Amino acid sequence: MNSSVNMEKLVSLCKRRGFIFQSSEIYGGLNSCWDYGFLGVELKKNVKEAWWKSVVQMRSDVVGIDSSILMHPDVWKASGHLDCFSDPMVDCKVCKHRFRADDLNSDKCPECGGELTDVRQFNLMFKTFMGTVEDQQATVYLRPETAQGIFTNFKNIQTTSRSKIPFGIAQIGKAFRNEITPGNFTFRTREFEQMEIEFFVKPGEDMEWFEHWKKERFNWYLKYGIKKENIRFREHEKNELAHYAKACVDVDYNFPFGWSELEGVANRTDYDLKKHIEKTGKDLLYFDEGTKEKYVPYVIEPSAGVDRSTLAFLVDSYEEEEDRILLRLDPRLAPFKAAIFPLVKKDGLSEISRDIEGKLKKYFNVFYDEKSSIGRRYRRQDEIGTPFGITVDYQTKDDSTVTLRERDSMEQERISIEQLASAIERKIYG
Ligand code: ATP
Repeated sequence: MNSSVNMEKLVSLCKRRGFIFQSSEIYGGLNSCWDYGFLGVELKKNVKEAWWKSVVQMRSDVVGIDSSILMHPDVWKASGHLDCFSDPMVDCKVCKHRFRADDLNSDKCPECGGELTDVRQFNLMFKTFMGTVEDQQATVYLRPETAQGIFTNFKNIQTTSRSKIPFGIAQIGKAFRNEITPGNFTFRTREFEQMEIEFFVKPGEDMEWFEHWKKERFNWYLKYGIKKENIRFREHEKNELAHYAKACVDVDYNFPFGWSELEGVANRTDYDLKKHIEKTGKDLLYFDEGTKEKYVPYVIEPSAGVDRSTLAFLVDSYEEEEDRILLRLDPRLAPFKAAIFPLVKKDGLSEISRDIEGKLKKYFNVFYDEKSSIGRRYRRQDEIGTPFGITVDYQTKDDSTVTLRERDSMEQERISIEQLASAIERKIYG
């Protein structure tokens, strides 16, 4: 367990500073739903961009998609979600608490020691109704994973992008699961975002690609600042594999509440495409022009959670020093890249600072702050992970230079206004 960070303190910082609020707070909140505030939305956007950059932009064998949340209900019949996407549930007959049966170590209620009901399967999909005429409404589902929007578009994307196997399709989007026991802040919620890739390969080459994606995805977390000692693989036992999987490994993070899954990398075989072929009768086979073979590809799926990785980046970067709290966020993920402070409000220093703010905003997010002492202003930015502080002082009026302060080392250097944007960009993006 990661005991250097206290979850309560992190949740409190998130609320106090504007990263994450409870949904519908003024109505007493809605259990397990969260809203990202002005800082959280930027952090989460940067996490998604970092993922997209690494798996789509930087590769020549993956393209993107954005499919709709509502899909034809038969999709979920074919994929097995209607029949199999459930968790075993029990209730306590005494205190009425509800548990996931596979989370329990005994046959008594962990809350009150009471007797438990028999195990029932509880389907996690949210149902809703589509259409305006009540008796003609169709039952549709909020997708519990983004993957099926990729499988059903396999042919559309493959032919229009003229991709050849091996290739992948990536998607970021919302998914919904009526979890039995949501909790641990944004770790397990009923509405969340996923970042998923379905990577299509020739059968027989699947385990090679499985290893490739394991490595790729693990290294991505390290690249964006997760400490080595806080991340590990966990291989799935045969009996815990999902109904469609041949192999699966989780990337686990050492959260303050224990090691828990950040991402799953699964070998989904040809299960999904075959099921959609069976159900629709459509030809979703791949034709290899080189060998003239026709086959249903196997699929390797790295499936990550946006909210869980954002939470892991927050936990991992949180530090308390003697006189400051700071988030040592990777500068690429930080909501604001720089903050601008006039040493005092008078004598034209505010105007010069506003002018610099306007220039830098064209390149990245900057924050302007002229309230309270300079030390306090620095600390306010340290606490939200802003990697650079720029101070405009009287010397600026003489030689057009400012002080550039680095968050982690607190080192300061004098730099000309003209070079500020490119110097900061170089420090952030290399
Ligand atoms: P868990 O075992 O924690 O319920 P899972 O194995 O069911 O997760 P997957 O179906 O593999 O999860 O989903 C892929 C990713 O989507 C997970 O690794 C996680 O990051 C994210 N995810 C899944 N369910 C939730 C949820 N309820 N809240 C937030 N993120 C989730």
